[in-house]
Amino acid sequence: MNTKKILKLAESEINTKYGKFQEYLYGDGHNNFIAITMGHVSGSENVLCRVHSTCIYGHYFNNIDCDCQSQLDNAQKLIQAEGRGIIILLDQEGKGNGHLAIMKSKVYKDLGYPQSKAYEAAGFRSDARDYAGAAFIIKDLKIDSIVMITDNVNKIKTLTELDVKVIDIKTAQI
Ligand SMILES: [Zn+2]
Repeated sequence: MNTKKILKLAESEINTKYGKFQEYLYGDGHNNFIAITMGHVSGSENVLCRVHSTCIYGHYFNNIDCDCQSQLDNAQKLIQAEGRGIIILLDQEGKGNGHLAIMKSKVYKDLGYPQSKAYEAAGFRSDARDYAGAAFIIKDLKIDSIVMITDNVNKIKTLTELDVKVIDIKTAQI
């Protein structure tokens, strides 16, 4: 992805169960990236940060096979408790392979394949996620360093490689 093409398109405010957040919409002409923030994040260190991927099953259909919604709720709760933080939503369902990959890989999941192998068996990549959009937003909002809310150490490694300063990690589980 060419991060030079990413632009901030709009900024607004949203009211949630977990308080008021500022919303930023970014786009590169192909993908949209949404960030919501609470408190003063610009020029701040140790800002709580959740980089979250879209999940149609988890967020629309109350799926019980994944914990995407509870992880998102947990991130908003943690940010509300601290009064400061950012959640970045990336449109990269199915580890960046899309919803089709999730549906096509189910037959292999049912055979006992781990998710990454099931994607490969269905003709997709084991992990096609791209965090350049998240790194761009963190820098654009001038966040100096973050505390990641995640259980995925690879996410930290990838963001660090994109010049994001990750200070600490907090579990995404409730
Ligand atoms: Zn999910």
